[in-house]
Amino acid sequence: MTRKLQPGKLVIASHNAGKVREIRALLEPFGIEPVSAGDLGLPEPEETGTSFRENALLKAHASASAAGLPALADDSGLEVAALSGRPGVYTADWAERQWFEGNPGRDWYMAMGKVEGLLAEQGPDVDRSACFICTLALAWPDGHAEVFEGRAEGRLTWPPRGKLGFGYDPVFVPTGNTLTYAEIDPAEKHAISHRADAFAKLVAGAFELVVIIPG
Ligand code: IMP
Repeated sequence: MTRKLQPGKLVIASHNAGKVREIRALLEPFGIEPVSAGDLGLPEPEETGTSFRENALLKAHASASAAGLPALADDSGLEVAALSGRPGVYTADWAERQWFEGNPGRDWYMAMGKVEGLLAEQGPDVDRSACFICTLALAWPDGHAEVFEGRAEGRLTWPPRGKLGFGYDPVFVPTGNTLTYAEIDPAEKHAISHRADAFAKLVAGAFELVVIIPG
């Protein structure tokens, strides 16, 4: 049976302010008091795993043991069927611009172009299906952990469309839609995304239901 998280402090094992903000809002109704790994001055472990699960567990365990508190970590990325699941855990790395000396950072258009170039090599009838994955790992200081995986199926389009969102959003059309993630209203994206799916599983699996009786 899944271990339940008790009300109290929970470390968000991420140094990404945007992710921490999003997770904080999701946890508020459950009596959980989120504190970020950055605020606690915890080191950021290197993501040396070869799967989303391994990387999420690595980050959650590192924070839980360093802080002596339960910790939640996420790892996410894009798996393209025709590329045997690549870029997968290397989704962010494919955008790295190491070779532009003096101008480091991530170039998402370059990354989307790389995916498209590899698909184009396989001809016009290539399978364009892809899937965004979000894996959440919840770890306790005693070494126990629970993992929840969310998925969003879709297909890749070209050229990129839309200005909303981030990362590979402009080329991802979720199943049942004609618009890309970057053209859909962010509230709607958050309701159908791989992250929403993973959080729904986390809430169902690890949180106690709190029943509030009015009056
Ligand atoms: P990480 O989980 O911080 O290692 O980042 C994984 C990478 O996957 C991000 O940098 C994004 O490029 C990509 N990614 C994850 N979720 C999304 C999404 O909802 N839209 C677009 N790209 C995403």
